[in-house]
Amino acid sequence: MSVEDTKIYPINTGWLEADVGTYIFWKGKAGEKIWNPTICFYVDTGEHKIMVDTGLSDAERATKYHHKCEKRGCVEAPEALQKLGVDPDEIDIVLFTHLHWDHVQGMKTFRNARYICTDTELLFAHNPLPLYYRSYESPVLGIEAPFIGCNFELVKMWSEVEIVPGVSVFPTPGHCPGHQAVSVKTAVGDLVIVGDAFFQWKNMEPNMEEKWRYWVPARFYNSVEGWKSIELIDMKADFTLPTHEELILEHDVYPYEGMPLRTRRQPVPGTSFFVAGI
Ligand SMILES: [Zn+2]
Repeated sequence: MSVEDTKIYPINTGWLEADVGTYIFWKGKAGEKIWNPTICFYVDTGEHKIMVDTGLSDAERATKYHHKCEKRGCVEAPEALQKLGVDPDEIDIVLFTHLHWDHVQGMKTFRNARYICTDTELLFAHNPLPLYYRSYESPVLGIEAPFIGCNFELVKMWSEVEIVPGVSVFPTPGHCPGHQAVSVKTAVGDLVIVGDAFFQWKNMEPNMEEKWRYWVPARFYNSVEGWKSIELIDMKADFTLPTHEELILEHDVYPYEGMPLRTRRQPVPGTSFFVAGI
């Protein structure tokens, strides 16, 4: 097995309702709600069986502490894996883009896995700014976050690290302080699992009314870092896999035959980049 055989399987763990203007798009239509899937990914490199994030909690807990949630037949990641013929015990690595509540559910099920996130994210998750108590399911709320009691291997923030051959992480803060994206080399190019660096493919498209090269999300902790991270992904990705993009669910596995690749860092007349290109 090699890069030629590497496959990525999206797993939808449930649907969340989110506000278009205060979450999905900066200057989106506030008050308008849309339903989004919450997708984690199983990466099979042949040598390694890797989860990237582990999805969201049950609908009741999600709705009580976070967003209105409906499962609509979705199952949690371990059960979805079993349907793919993979035992959760076979997962040897769980890579976390970040430790928000809808990316870590059921992580302890993967009991033979190495858990990997950035040092910055782990620190912030255990001691978040009060604004983010809910995002990290702080004990202040009287609940226990899934990552409590787990040992992590830490990626030093601001470093790009190859975790196993063909699978690398790179820093993409902005949505939260310690966010990272996961780049997976495949037969067709570099597929980047972006976590919540942006939510949907439309976030990568321009907002011509505002003359923005990207229509960035409205949910962030640092807008400058968030914009830079999107530009970095734009420079590195031949295809992107965001957590909350519904169209991803049209295919069971990536790459698929005839999959259209994106053009990296494509200028759009009338808009500007912020970071000097590489
Ligand atoms: Zn998040």
